[in-house]
Amino acid sequence: MAVCNGLGVQVIEDCAHTMGALWNGRLSGTEGIIGCYSTQTYKHMNSGEGGLLVTRDPEVMARAVMLSGSYMLYGKHTAAPGAEAFADIRYETPNVSGRMDHLRAAILRPQLARLSEQCERWNERYRAVEAGVRGTPGLTVVERPEAEYYVGSSIQFLLLDWASAKVQEVVARCAARGVELKWFGAGEPVGFTSRYDSWRYAPSERMAKSDRILGGILDMRLPLTFSLEDCAQIARIIRAEVGAVHQAA
Ligand SMILES: *Cc1c(COP(=O)(O)O)cnc(C)c1O
Repeated sequence: MAVCNGLGVQVIEDCAHTMGALWNGRLSGTEGIIGCYSTQTYKHMNSGEGGLLVTRDPEVMARAVMLSGSYMLYGKHTAAPGAEAFADIRYETPNVSGRMDHLRAAILRPQLARLSEQCERWNERYRAVEAGVRGTPGLTVVERPEAEYYVGSSIQFLLLDWASAKVQEVVARCAARGVELKWFGAGEPVGFTSRYDSWRYAPSERMAKSDRILGGILDMRLPLTFSLEDCAQIARIIRAEVGAVHQAA
């Protein structure tokens, strides 16, 4: 933020996976001019599809309301700024009909009320897996900074500087025991493992430090349907399979 503020750059935060997280006690999505949240199936609140934005800037919000497709009914929007914010914007902003419908909002409101509680449940699961894999030879746990309150809806750990074939062997052995790990080091993106160089619509320079991390990082979602015992069991499987491949290397 200090760098961007110094350069006069407006920050729009993509908070799709940090809903409920804090840095130094401040919620993600409240540092920049806009915070964006996704509420599709894999996020912290799930309405199937959808999302929302937050801002303290009345002009930005007025524009968002017009863009979303309020027509001239913006006065009915209970979270919209006052009519004065729309005075010119209503003539200048096209309608792209990106509205959130009432049905989705109704699905989300009870989830919003439970968000903090759910975040704590994710973190219990995260800590159970983390405690179980910590100390495995060859495996690096990601140490979380003190300033961070994370939401452990997924966990990442590293097999840093391992040969690709060995990482793939760990992934295959875990999969055979029902533990699905995602690896970001493969040449081709699969599922959610696309990375900066997977997309060809924009040029990218090689980033050696990022590549080193991507080549060793494994990721797993921690759905709330997992019990704490499930998490401990998953950690035991990861520990055993990483251990077996590491020892053979
Ligand atoms: C899921 C996700 C998105 C995309 O959200 P959609 O609702 O699928 O468009 C964007 N950024 C991050 C960081 C995400 O995790």
